[in-house]
Amino acid sequence: MNQPQIQIPLDLPNVRVENYEQTDKGLVITVVSICTTAACRQCGRTIDKFHGYDKAITLRHLPIFDRPVWIRIRPKRFQCRYCDKGPVTTQRYEWYEPKSPHTKAYENWILRELINSTLSDVSLKRDLGAECIEGILDRHIQREVEWSAVPHLALLGIDEIALKKGHKDFVVIVSGLTAQREKYILAVLPDRKKETVKAFLKTLPPRQCQSIRHVCIDMNEGYCNAVLETLPKAQVVVDRFHVAKHYRDCADKARKAEMKRLKQTLPESEYRELKGAMWAFRKPWNNLGEEQQVVLLSLFRQAPILKEVYVQREVLTGIFEKDLTKAQAEQALTQWLDRITELGLDCFSPFATTLSNWRDHITNYFIRRETSGFVEGLNNKIKVIKRRCYGIYNLGRLFQHIWLDVQGPRTFFPEH
Ligand SMILES: [Zn+2]
Repeated sequence: MNQPQIQIPLDLPNVRVENYEQTDKGLVITVVSICTTAACRQCGRTIDKFHGYDKAITLRHLPIFDRPVWIRIRPKRFQCRYCDKGPVTTQRYEWYEPKSPHTKAYENWILRELINSTLSDVSLKRDLGAECIEGILDRHIQREVEWSAVPHLALLGIDEIALKKGHKDFVVIVSGLTAQREKYILAVLPDRKKETVKAFLKTLPPRQCQSIRHVCIDMNEGYCNAVLETLPKAQVVVDRFHVAKHYRDCADKARKAEMKRLKQTLPESEYRELKGAMWAFRKPWNNLGEEQQVVLLSLFRQAPILKEVYVQREVLTGIFEKDLTKAQAEQALTQWLDRITELGLDCFSPFATTLSNWRDHITNYFIRRETSGFVEGLNNKIKVIKRRCYGIYNLGRLFQHIWLDVQGPRTFFPEH
């Protein structure tokens, strides 16, 4: 065959190509080391007394033009003249790890492929067994935080995710943010108990305890106390989105109750006109299309109390949107509470209770507004990871996957 040919550098240092051949499993490139010394495994001295070749190893390497590539090498062996009994040392190469069946370049490529992807996708697309990929994960990524690699954090986020839909198996994700807004995954904890969270927080290096100013949490007393007891200097901030979820649920309950009433009292044709009211009710007025606004207005005509509920929910959101000081926010929330009492909007009572219990931590949000978006952003990422890693119940493995998605891009694509 007379095909056009090109030459590509192999990018493996200190070897020369001895031979290459096309086989059933791909292109096998046989290389020989050009290094003429090794470091004695016993005394560490540089030794150069050649002692033959070790048995051949074949390592998977980066594919070329969609063909699998394998590097075959017989490592050189050298004998020490200085040590007693002349121990023999096998040469090591910087481009592969002794226990790995792949070159380092190949493993780094697979790790990049795993970012924002599932293990089974990568396994399928790269024709690589799941165990091989797990081996790569374990060789390169820790199953828990390596504190020496984490710079000073300004903020911690503590949040939970359910591992199975509808199940009560929650794990707690602890994440961190530097002043430069770089995200770090710090822990995947097995349960939501205060003692579990506290035990982890106690492992924070002292320099981190000094630098962490804020801890973002859900309204969970256990987390709150764990933080107050271990990081007395940090301020607890209740994530704004958790607050919003709480009062929005109150409004939704009122809507459901009214819809149920209307279903029983309205003629069927009129009730049918309220179709789509649920979605319209959940959105702010300005985000609604004209049709949705019409549906919502018909709902308000049939159930006037829902108009008040809707307006007050949006007023509350407005408070969190505004650039208020903590004191101003406290005042605005008090006025809001007075107003719902005046209007007799009992549906918000559970939220009023929450607000009185958590007032200080909720209004801490106004001291440093940027804190909340980060935890939310990370949680969204984890939600996606969760869907991708469905069935990963091994917490160390989950940590590795979250690490790849959160920290992988800047580790493997530092130019971005
Ligand atoms: Zn030696």
